[in-house]
Amino acid sequence: MSARATLDGVQFAAAARRLEGEFDIAALPRLRDMVHDHAGTVRYRLTGHQRADGKAAVRLEVSGAVRLTCQRCLEALEQPVDSTRELVFVEQSGFGEIAEEEAESDYLDAGQPLDVEEAVEDEVLLCLPMAPRHAADQCPAAGAGGTDSGKPRPFAVLSQLKKH
Ligand SMILES: [Zn+2]
Repeated sequence: MSARATLDGVQFAAAARRLEGEFDIAALPRLRDMVHDHAGTVRYRLTGHQRADGKAAVRLEVSGAVRLTCQRCLEALEQPVDSTRELVFVEQSGFGEIAEEEAESDYLDAGQPLDVEEAVEDEVLLCLPMAPRHAADQCPAAGAGGTDSGKPRPFAVLSQLKKH
């Protein structure tokens, strides 16, 4: 792997630059600790722009899929990742002025370089469910702890009775 890619967010936004690439799951240390296995990659696209309020901003889009561990059966679970976030660069002296209701954007210190890998990994981590599970009909262990598989369920029996 090459040296970590960083960019100057303010310049990147002012020049309306774009950057695309991808990271292997295996190369992202925090994500690597959370996944079932290291298969797959995460693609990203950064698009610099100037906001109407004059602040420098970069739109970060991530997409791909990671393999998590189903909390019910402990088998692999394919989790799609598809997310967009706006990163806004603010001088440190301006942090106090940010309104609470703007909290859905991420505010970064304009004086610090943006670490692309860290930003992409952060975004993927934010997308992941706290307790991933297969859909009930796709999970080998679904249904009352997996003890009743094969037995008819009470409500299924009831509906059969109603039919006859
Ligand atoms: Zn499962």
